[in-house]
Amino acid sequence: MSYQDLREEENSVTVALPKDELATSAIDSDPASRRTPYIPKNKRRILCVFPKYSRSFGTLHHAYPLTAKVQAFMPPQGILVVAAYLPEQWDIRFVDESIRPCRSQDYQWADAVLVSGMHIQRSQINKINDLAHKAGKITMVGGPSVSGCPEYYPDFDLIHIGELGDATDRAIEYLDLHRDRPPQQIRFETEERLPLDRFPIPAYHLLDLDRYFLGSVQFSSGCPYRCEFCDIPELYGRNPRLKDPQQVLAELDEMLRFGNLGAVYFVDDNFVGNRRAAMELLPHLIDWQKRNGYPVQFACEATLNLAQSPKLLEMMREAYFCTVFCGIETPDTDALKAIAKGQNLSMPILDAIQTFNQYGMEVVSGIIIGLDTDTPETGDRILEFIRLSQIPMLTINLLYALPRTPLWRRLEAEGRLIFEEGRESNVDFLLPYEQVIAMWRRCITTAYKPEFLYQRYAYQCEQTYPNRIKVPNSPARTSGANIRKGLTMLGKILLRVGLLGNYRSTFWKLAKPALKAGNIESVIHVGLVGHHLIKFAQECGRGDESASFYSQKLKR
Ligand code: SF4
Repeated sequence: MSYQDLREEENSVTVALPKDELATSAIDSDPASRRTPYIPKNKRRILCVFPKYSRSFGTLHHAYPLTAKVQAFMPPQGILVVAAYLPEQWDIRFVDESIRPCRSQDYQWADAVLVSGMHIQRSQINKINDLAHKAGKITMVGGPSVSGCPEYYPDFDLIHIGELGDATDRAIEYLDLHRDRPPQQIRFETEERLPLDRFPIPAYHLLDLDRYFLGSVQFSSGCPYRCEFCDIPELYGRNPRLKDPQQVLAELDEMLRFGNLGAVYFVDDNFVGNRRAAMELLPHLIDWQKRNGYPVQFACEATLNLAQSPKLLEMMREAYFCTVFCGIETPDTDALKAIAKGQNLSMPILDAIQTFNQYGMEVVSGIIIGLDTDTPETGDRILEFIRLSQIPMLTINLLYALPRTPLWRRLEAEGRLIFEEGRESNVDFLLPYEQVIAMWRRCITTAYKPEFLYQRYAYQCEQTYPNRIKVPNSPARTSGANIRKGLTMLGKILLRVGLLGNYRSTFWKLAKPALKAGNIESVIHVGLVGHHLIKFAQECGRGDESASFYSQKLKR
């Protein structure tokens, strides 16, 4: 082995091995076995660890006790794809710490420990590194956080920057040839990304799918827009890269083979970032649903201007898309212009939401507090918007500047980034900090008062859910396992919310007529999600939860 390029970079070294040194074999056209072309010389045991996910508004963790087995939100796609990409000859063990902690036996078993995660998991990622080092194991971190901020992870032996690609093959070769920790950090940086349509199917066989609230699948990566606060365009590009429809179907098939979670979330940054591609995918999804008896509901993230594409919306309805997450961010037109979110202005926001509802899709919305355009009246305007839009679930977060965003660069130039332990955001707001926090707290606690929330859910039950296609009582939907799962959830909801809950009278106002009409699915959906929202907001009111998804303030 020769090192073609060995250059010092801060505290790390970049290793670029000549491509012809990588033993190559044709990549199998079967997506289930698309592995690295590198053929290893040695046997290795690789421990892949996904750090415990910090609780947040969007993880719906208060709903888990109302389910049969759920312990985590979604299977972690990225590290499962890496696990599937590793050489076939290697033994892989996967631990999602939201399901169980990584134990010392796991570290002892491994030759190398791979970790991935987001900024919010930073401290746990570094903790896993310490534990692996204590066991004498070589470690590598990859994924979105280290790709955006390599300096967060100075003690890892190997860091993998960027997406799956040439750097991944070089890192695999390194792990094949070295079991000992290197004297200094080595950096592998992807220059040539593996095309999305060559990705293997995530290694679902390594986990118990029934432990997750939702299934997840990825069709595209990247987004053509440039919202000021968002790091997606810089991390993943503005020209969305795509999988082919057959590959998406193969992933869905594989997921069904290991369990049916009832709902699958397209984790694409923007499902309609490339509309033509979405148009091409949807007929395949519709066929798949028909063939399999509509085993799942779909959900996705999309820009609000999807509401202007009736053809796409009709196909999404046919494919049984029931939820769409839209980054509305603020109902204030000037604020949207200021954060470069002009795509939300192509039609009146309330009309767009109503359009989604007419196609049977409940809208989930992101709302940001702490924008430069905010005034003391912003809180009232947001609450009025919530009332008018009838959106039940809105993630109401404080503005936080992420590295590699236009917002970060602007605030840095203005000297408005603040790094203080215990602060809810790194942004020096134009309004006084305490006023912004109080506005956030009032919005979230008011929005999720049981009566207000259930009134919005009642609207959805009347005006949105009936617009969905009527799916058949197929064997996939009425299997013994599914019925048992549904009855367990219904029983727990009726007991914990309907009998023991402190908002039980509000619950029954919606649940009684719905149950009489046989609308059990709606009662389960509202009971589960509503319970989380109400409990989480109560914790926010008590100061037990953070005002920003990214807050470094210590959580309970
Ligand atoms: S539309 Fe969404 S994914 Fe695209 S840049 Fe804006 S916030 Fe990011």
